[in-house]
Amino acid sequence: MTETFEQIMRQIDQNIQRIRSQIADAATAAGRQSDAVTLMAVTKGFPSPYAAEAARRGISVFGENRVQEALTKAAALPNLRWEMIGTLQRNKVKSAVKVFQRIQSIDSIELALALNAAAQTLQQPLEVFVQVNISGEATKHGVQPELALQLGEAIQSLPYLRGGGLMTVAPFAENPQTIRWVFAELRALRDSFQAHFGDSWQDLSMGMSHDFAAAIAEGATLVRIGSALFGGRK
Ligand SMILES: *Cc1c(COP(=O)(O)O)cnc(C)c1O
Repeated sequence: MTETFEQIMRQIDQNIQRIRSQIADAATAAGRQSDAVTLMAVTKGFPSPYAAEAARRGISVFGENRVQEALTKAAALPNLRWEMIGTLQRNKVKSAVKVFQRIQSIDSIELALALNAAAQTLQQPLEVFVQVNISGEATKHGVQPELALQLGEAIQSLPYLRGGGLMTVAPFAENPQTIRWVFAELRALRDSFQAHFGDSWQDLSMGMSHDFAAAIAEGATLVRIGSALFGGRK
């Protein structure tokens, strides 16, 4: 049976309520404030009315992994805050800095240099996170943990980039408790960033639909949720 538009929107509302209370529960269980975790809605693969509905329900941060798709949605919904969470190709950097308020996926010094140059052209500082491949899986993007501080140092030296934290994608695990170490290692690395570069490097973007509770237990300040809010992608 095909759902009507209204049914889909109602389902999204219910999902948002459920995820919010699960986030609050996970934070409380970890002895953290229930509002210590930002809920990002990952709208990749979903049409802009889905994002509009989430915004109506108070979600204020939206994640996309393709520049072109983000440009289309941002044109429809110009007042939302869009952040890049996917691999950024060098030839898309100029459009990326126009549409994204933050790039969470810096994984090389070359990309940092290109983003700094594009931000300089706009005369607009750009917030960035370093994406780290904690698990070491070949299929995962991100800088190796051993090289992360070096990349952080490069970002610190670039006048138009503002480093704000670290991001990772954990391997899929049937039982997310078994990959908690990934989140713990990202947190430890974040602590080193703060020790080297200052408190501004405070954010931990980690946790997705199936593992956000484990990530919150390890200190996530931002969780990136797509399918649990909007359903399966086609
Ligand atoms: C797609 C995606 C998400 C959201 O994944 P869900 O399992 O749908 O919640 C989070 N982070 C990144 C980097 C993604 O590409």
